[in-house]
Amino acid sequence: MTTQAPEAYQFKAEIKQLLQILVHSLYKDRDIFLRELISNASDALARMQFELLTNQDVHDAEAELAIWLKSAEDGDTKTLIVKDSGIGMTHDEIVRNLGTIAQSGAREFLATLRDGAATPTDVIGQFGVGFYSVFMVADEVRVVSRSYQPDAEAVAWISDGGEDFRVESAEKADRGTEIHIKLKSDASEFVQSFKLREIVKKHSDFVSFPIYIDDNEKQVNQQQSLWRKPSQDIEQEDYNNFYQQMTLDFEPPLATVHFSSDVPVNVRAMLFIPAKRERNMFSLRKEPGLKLYSNNVLIQEYNTDLLPEWLNFVDGVVDSEDLPLNVSRETVHNNRLMAHLGKTIRKRVLRELGRLAENEPEKYDQFLDQYQFILKQGIAMEPQSKDEIVPLLRFQSSKSDGERIALDTYVERMGDEQEAIYYVLGDDIRSVTHSPHLDPFKARELEVLYFVDPIDPFMVTALLEYKDKKLQDVADAGLELPELDSAETEPEPELEEKERNLLVGRFVTTLGDRVTEVRETKVLRDSPLRIVPAEDGMSSGMQRIYRYTDQNYEIPKMIVELNVRHPILVNLGHMIGAEESAEVIDLTIDQLYDSALVQEGLHPNPTAMLPRIQRLMELATGNQATGALTAGDEA
Ligand code: ADP
Ligand code: MG
Repeated sequence: MTTQAPEAYQFKAEIKQLLQILVHSLYKDRDIFLRELISNASDALARMQFELLTNQDVHDAEAELAIWLKSAEDGDTKTLIVKDSGIGMTHDEIVRNLGTIAQSGAREFLATLRDGAATPTDVIGQFGVGFYSVFMVADEVRVVSRSYQPDAEAVAWISDGGEDFRVESAEKADRGTEIHIKLKSDASEFVQSFKLREIVKKHSDFVSFPIYIDDNEKQVNQQQSLWRKPSQDIEQEDYNNFYQQMTLDFEPPLATVHFSSDVPVNVRAMLFIPAKRERNMFSLRKEPGLKLYSNNVLIQEYNTDLLPEWLNFVDGVVDSEDLPLNVSRETVHNNRLMAHLGKTIRKRVLRELGRLAENEPEKYDQFLDQYQFILKQGIAMEPQSKDEIVPLLRFQSSKSDGERIALDTYVERMGDEQEAIYYVLGDDIRSVTHSPHLDPFKARELEVLYFVDPIDPFMVTALLEYKDKKLQDVADAGLELPELDSAETEPEPELEEKERNLLVGRFVTTLGDRVTEVRETKVLRDSPLRIVPAEDGMSSGMQRIYRYTDQNYEIPKMIVELNVRHPILVNLGHMIGAEESAEVIDLTIDQLYDSALVQEGLHPNPTAMLPRIQRLMELATGNQATGALTAGDEA
């Protein structure tokens, strides 16, 4: 390729708009432009470093991998140069990367500004448009770059932040990129080296390549890979800074795990549990995964092989000298060492969580609020890991007084004769505390765990037992429970056998084919009736799963069990004997059944009950308060 004539390009429409805003607004923290340029330089250096692992046939193979900030003054014109020895850009790359590629990020960024949700300078880097922030301080920008590819020629990109940019050939002997920023007259402070130093310290201290200012040989940033320092030399605040520079999370991490180990593999790791599960939209870490280094060289930005998916919220750095430097991303994936590494860090993370649960219950509560869902999902998806996951989980129970307890706590306080771990499924705590299924457990003072998370039914399908104790759904009709003490046995039912038979028969005719069976039960106490899955039918857990996953799922027919000692049913029984055609009888039966469906979270359309409830209230408040009376009057 020979020298090319200058070419003019239009910026993509959304970039034009973005530039409009950046050029013409005055932001007080516009010094972040330097963070963005240094971050780009650091990316280019990391890519160079990675290339060099397997390829020495590059331009300037021996050059130091670093970033230089230089300033120049020519009369009133002040210029700042940000230079790196990174991977560089070819002619085509510079055209594409700096202005002509379709930029969805720019659109999102503009939308965020319109929402007023964020200050532009806080967030610009996260939309893949950080480079353009330089126009907050520049009258003109000239990017000169020479790619690492041996036959590439230097190229220059020039723009004043208007509608278009120019690309022309350039002179540059060494590899990498230089950004020449002709500073706006009100931005001349950015040539002062103390100012530059201050900005680097604030925003770019942990960039993993040395940053030099004005040919000074002493690098400005710490560049110490913090994870390689002994943990006793590091304050929590250093961890927080490191984490927040890495992620741009607004909050410090909930927990930090920093350790080094040499057997069975060499590893230095610094891991964080973010305070929030949702990465905020501004997070620099856009995907789950750990940064994987081999000997201080970044070889993978998002590694998801080291930790199981149910710990994919853990962020941070893993560095191992045992990983061969000469690796490709595929061999990382298959490396035998990775299994060892993974096991080691997984153990440490679990240990830290255990410690948190023990020593910092409030923080652990926060952890559960954010991540318990993912852990439970882990049981459903990876049942072989349940022995690791279950000890991390906490549930409310019928005896926990609103606290969350561990399954281990439950098992510890089980009586000797209790064989199973009992749970009730439901939509929320309030409805399960009133669940009729709990009646026999209250009577026997047995503890029941509340599984009220939408993920819980999925979890129980995989979590069949824990510590050799079977997990048992209390809604299971065939459930056998120890006999009650004789002192506690129920009084004789108030209804005669004949009345009870009539009552059951009336439920059968009224409910018709909505149910498979109606029968008496002795297990209920405070509730008039309950519905239970048919013996050969689907468990209530599976029904829930279908209901969550299939909009059109129809609830299968179930069994109705009646508590014939309950006052409502006693009244009904008498009423049926006295005046079987009373309107209130069928209304009440229908309503009892619907209420039970609601209680189970199974009612397809609860508002459909309202006309009936209204009618029942009319009957209750009017002089037709008892159907029998009315009917008698008419006769
Ligand atoms: P992002 O860094 O999120 O990709 P930027 O707007 O900061 O978005 O940069 C756009 C692109 O320009 C980068 O992805 C990279 O390809 C290229 N680029 C910017 N600066 C450099 C540099 N110093 N060396 C090589 N390429 C660069
Ligand atoms: Mg960038």
